Amino acid sequence: MNNGVSDLKINETINELAATLNSSSKTIAAKGIKHAGSLWRKEDGSEDEFKLFCIKYFVSDSSEKAEVFNKACKNFESLFGHFSQLSLELRENIDLDRGPLHYIDEMFGSYSVGAHFSDDFFSNKIAFIIALNFPYYSLTEKNELGKNWSAKDWAYARLGDFFINRIPAELQQKATAVSSKAGLYVSEYNIYMGKITTDNDKQLFPIDMVLLSHWNLRDELKSNYGNKEDGIEKQKTIYEIMKRIIAQEIPQKVINCGEYFWNPFSNKTFKDGREVSLTAEADTRYQHILNNFHAMKAIDSYTPEMNTYIMRTFAGEMEIPQIEVENIFDEYLRAPLLKKLAELIKQRLGRDLLAYDIWYDGFKARSSISEEKLNAITQKLYPNTAAYEKDMAKTLEKLGFAQENAQNISSFIAVDAARGSGHAWGAQMRTAKAHLRTRIGAAGMSYKGYNIATHEFGHNVEQTISLHQTPYYTLNGVPNTAFTEALAFLFQKRDLEILGINNSDKQVDNFKILDICWHTFEMMGVSMVDMGIWKWMYENPQATPTQLKTQTINIAKNIWNKYFSAIYGSKDEPILAIYSHMINSPLYLSNYSFGSLIEFQLGQYLKGKDFGKEVERIWSLGRLTPRHWMQKAVGQDLLSKPLLEAAEEALKNI
Ligand SMILES: [Zn+2]
Repeated sequence: MNNGVSDLKINETINELAATLNSSSKTIAAKGIKHAGSLWRKEDGSEDEFKLFCIKYFVSDSSEKAEVFNKACKNFESLFGHFSQLSLELRENIDLDRGPLHYIDEMFGSYSVGAHFSDDFFSNKIAFIIALNFPYYSLTEKNELGKNWSAKDWAYARLGDFFINRIPAELQQKATAVSSKAGLYVSEYNIYMGKITTDNDKQLFPIDMVLLSHWNLRDELKSNYGNKEDGIEKQKTIYEIMKRIIAQEIPQKVINCGEYFWNPFSNKTFKDGREVSLTAEADTRYQHILNNFHAMKAIDSYTPEMNTYIMRTFAGEMEIPQIEVENIFDEYLRAPLLKKLAELIKQRLGRDLLAYDIWYDGFKARSSISEEKLNAITQKLYPNTAAYEKDMAKTLEKLGFAQENAQNISSFIAVDAARGSGHAWGAQMRTAKAHLRTRIGAAGMSYKGYNIATHEFGHNVEQTISLHQTPYYTLNGVPNTAFTEALAFLFQKRDLEILGINNSDKQVDNFKILDICWHTFEMMGVSMVDMGIWKWMYENPQATPTQLKTQTINIAKNIWNKYFSAIYGSKDEPILAIYSHMINSPLYLSNYSFGSLIEFQLGQYLKGKDFGKEVERIWSLGRLTPRHWMQKAVGQDLLSKPLLEAAEEALKNI
């Protein structure tokens, strides 16, 4: 057993310490001793040493406790802040537009600065002092007790989250190795489209076209909605390929290899005009999912508070219990509006829906202002990164931020020329700056670049407010990953408004909303499959890859039949099982849907309000749980209704 301290010794410690304490300290001491005891290992000392440690280091005096807390905040800010700063500097050549890369850049850039932090802090015993005095509260406790917590209570509880488990390094390494192997499998899963033949043996795709599963396959399918000539034939062919991948009937030698012609309808392969028989892929797809499962399951007993990967992902990282996620998705997936939206799509396509229309891409309206005209405006305004940086405070003022606050926030954001498409790097200490990375061409910033930069700027503003304006360092941030996207999208949506262009194109917005609504329908469907697979693996830990394959297809078909088939008019479609995320980022998919829900709920709340003032109020709440954050931000729980209502409205208006 990984718990080094017996229940007997824990109770003895609690009783001995309790005799000297008042009743509220007693409760905290009992909680802290239990938690610290669960983290204690033989190498930390004997059970008697554990008892002496607790008696010596439990702080019962509230002002001394505040002093310990403040010192911890100051030092953790310094540690995490400098870790982040070091990574930023080590990655400079990788992230910034600095000419050719040398292999040594990659090697420095992948160095993990804080990798030994946790081990070091258990061995110097600071982790135990934190665990003992700032005990860990489960999500249920945070959601329940948090109603009456002050900002300081929340900040103490968040400090208690710093050391909640102690996973042996070899298990962590195993999980990382398994995950990077799965990532590699996904990144090398290319289909040579020039070698694909259709039902009647035609070659429709360009000879040099190579598409990665499933993203590129999906994007090629999407891009054919406008192709009146052979678009539908191409789309049907791509869906056949996907079905062969899901069922693992795809010949091994057509993956990442252009040696053979392949007809995915008949599943026959050819070379030099002759049919060749090839063996199918050996359920490798499902082997990788199982490898992930076994690596995560090995960690379970070291996280007694959250002893499944499902709990660690949802109740742990996301801080929304899995069952709640499922309920929110279920409610959305049953919304009558989706049927109305499907009717509109049928009308626009002039045919009944096919399963792959989960990726319908036709909700686009042409803007009344041409892209060339917009390019001319942004290129002139922003010839380089310095021009964008100089303009940030004014941009915030245009969005309704008070002048002084706009200047203050902007002074903590630096703009750099990025090597890639751009990103937002948040600071982890108040003396460092956040970095907005954007790509600006020789002619200046294109409108597309500006649109993305506005999104990243939203991230930087969210990072800066939630670091500088939250009352305590341990509260900095937002509830989870999905929440970080909300402000970025709210900024991006206002990009024309910032340029002073009065966008009377309501139609563009209406179609955008319908697009998000339809896309969320699909994303919630695939998230349901992802969750279903993990629940089944926990019920069947001995499953073979072939059994997992059969079950995954069953789960995908069941979700289809439950939510999609009445709208699509077809049964037993396996399409929801094609997502590559299920292999390389297990259980991540639901973040996307949450991002959309949060964006619309905040958007609806902010309508007609003072944008700048409200943004500062909401994003300075800090890292409460999603439930308490939403309650304090908009006075409601997280709901799917605002997105559905916006779509209902948009549907009326087009
Ligand atoms: Zn983003």
